[in-house]
Amino acid sequence: MTEWWEWRNAPPADFAVIGDPVSHSLSPRMHAAALAKLGRTERYVALRVPSGEVELAFSELKSRGYKGLNVTVPLKEEAAALVILDEFARRCGSANTIALVEGKGTNTDGPGFVETLSGLVAPGDLVLLLGAGGSARSIALALYLAGYPLRVHNRTRARAEKMILDLEIEAEVVDDPAPEDARLIVNATSASLHKNGLNVPWDHARSDALAYDLVYGDTAFLSQARGAGLKTIDGGAMLVAQGARSLEYWLGVDAPRDVMTEALR
Ligand code: NAP
Repeated sequence: MTEWWEWRNAPPADFAVIGDPVSHSLSPRMHAAALAKLGRTERYVALRVPSGEVELAFSELKSRGYKGLNVTVPLKEEAAALVILDEFARRCGSANTIALVEGKGTNTDGPGFVETLSGLVAPGDLVLLLGAGGSARSIALALYLAGYPLRVHNRTRARAEKMILDLEIEAEVVDDPAPEDARLIVNATSASLHKNGLNVPWDHARSDALAYDLVYGDTAFLSQARGAGLKTIDGGAMLVAQGARSLEYWLGVDAPRDVMTEALR
């Protein structure tokens, strides 16, 4: 459990992750380690901001001297509407990184995810993406821009179709989580948080396929994939990569990914 505050009671600090809830967030631990390694004195905290209060919170936190915010569930779309977005975040329609003083924002989830694929898969490899929520949107756009062909399955098919249209990308939308021919199978749903394995027919997957769950830690999805002999990766690497990119957005210096990874252990 991370120490956290209601945003109206925000302590003196420079950076924060905002969300509802935020008690589970590992970002304060990870960013504190990074800031210390960089020899900086800024403080990073966790603040609960309920839906509908993001605009008020931005203005109050800015006046209290906060410089940057990470935004998590369910506030990424609300935050995006309040700042000037770069082209990537504008296409996603969501922001997870805000520079409060400049009033600008970006989305580091998708680029952070793609960064973690280095050496594991390569552009041109088919990706089966499960989900069409906020994270799936950022990942779908980043994968598409990086040159990965996409097959998308979501419990609510219409949401997957809308995602493809909104992002202005090409992808095949399918009714079932069909892993055939995919080199990478990504669980970008929140099903793992409900201990749900998503019913992927793992025996139809390529033997060299990689199963990737955005959730940090072991999940039913990953253990089922491992049971079928596949290699797996959890959300820890992406958590570090998206956080490192946020820090680089705010500070303009390289973030120490090794220290951030170590802080999660
Ligand atoms: P979200 O916007 O709420 O989207 C949820 C998605 O999950 C939707 O596609 C939804 O399908 C699907 N879903 C929910 N319950 C399901 C179930 N029981 N069976 C099948 N599909 C189900 O959530 P999000 O922000 O994209 O986050 C998704 C996951 O990524 C979360 O677990 C989050 O913790 C994780 N995440 C990790 C990182 C990281 O750095 N590692 C970063 C961001 C997010 P419908 O459209 O049918 O409702």
